Amino acid sequence: MKVTDHISQSTKTLVSFEILPPLKGKGIQSLYTHLDPLMEHKPSFINVTYHRSEHSFKKRADGSFEKVIVRKRPGTESICAAIMNKYNVDTVPHLICGGFSVSETEDALINLNYLGIDNVLVLRGDAAKNESAFEPEPGGHKYAIDLLNQVVNLNEGVYLEEDLKNTSKTKFCIGVAGYPEKHFEAPNMESDLKHLKAKIDAGADYIVTQMFFDNAKYFQFVKSCRDMGINVPIIPGLKPVYTKKQLTILPKTFHIDLPTPLSEAIASCKNDADVEKVGQEWLLEQSKELLKANVPVLHYYTLGRPQLVANVVNELF
Ligand SMILES: Cc1cc2nc3c(=O)[nH]c(=O)nc-3n(C[C@H](O)[C@H](O)[C@H](O)COP(=O)(O)OP(=O)(O)OC[C@H]3O[C@@H](n4cnc5c(N)ncnc54)[C@H](O)[C@@H]3O)c2cc1C
Repeated sequence: MKVTDHISQSTKTLVSFEILPPLKGKGIQSLYTHLDPLMEHKPSFINVTYHRSEHSFKKRADGSFEKVIVRKRPGTESICAAIMNKYNVDTVPHLICGGFSVSETEDALINLNYLGIDNVLVLRGDAAKNESAFEPEPGGHKYAIDLLNQVVNLNEGVYLEEDLKNTSKTKFCIGVAGYPEKHFEAPNMESDLKHLKAKIDAGADYIVTQMFFDNAKYFQFVKSCRDMGINVPIIPGLKPVYTKKQLTILPKTFHIDLPTPLSEAIASCKNDADVEKVGQEWLLEQSKELLKANVPVLHYYTLGRPQLVANVVNELF
């Protein structure tokens, strides 16, 4: 079922989770162990992130270096199928521009369609670790909107091979990313919102936000979107804080702020067990306020602490 159908058919706020594929070598059981406490809360859908290959240089015995290409977390599409099969829940695979040519993207979409997956979250992806700025694959997409256009085309039965006849149309519900605190490359919020609006005008069905820790930023973002005619559901993305290190890692990696009361509370914690309590309380308060505001879905980034997220959802419903 489509994410937008889940939303339109519900009178109350829904819950969804984002998970990462297990690290290569871990096996699918580790994922089920992560998901089991969350599934008790009957999420409407589960997002599965996509991780492109990275390359590094390994020193050989003779002192020279060998380029090694590694994908640390493969398996997004098959994990979606496995989750649907095991838990009978809808899944949303993330699909990125980075590392894909357009024909590889088409093949990936055909696979997702055959698997009965109704949703995709289309993203550009970040720069590869060794690159200073995002570089599209030769023959690949530069921006999320280009990938979005390809999915929209496939939904209309338009494949890359123009002479294909009597093609089957896919029916993907398409999500895109939005940034209440601005995407870090955008020169200003206005420019970022203009590009977001272009994605909606091109056919995106809903927006999922980057994590934020200050609800006022989400509410302002929704208002700015509505003011410029963006009328699709805007799903807030929420993440718990559970280690002291996240005080610097989260702003550095995701280009977001932690409000002063939260950062001071974390800084005064003696250890990470205390940080986890602070993080859980903050997430609960954030969620309560968003619930009161009737947001369509509370979407939790569960990496690392599924039980913490499960505790919060337990308190809410
Ligand atoms: C909810 C969510 C889930 C994510 N999941 C993943 C994941 O699974 N895997 C992963 O690798 N990354 C993931 N990311 C990270 C994401 O890939 C990065 O934030 C990336 O840098 C931008 O992706 P985008 O889809 O927002 O890009 P875009 O929409 O392409 O925007 C990128 C930048 O370019 C600007 N821009 C857009 N269109 C144009 C244009 N036509 N001309 C000029 N400028 C333009 C935008 O303002 C923005 O600054 C996720 C992010 C979010 C918020």
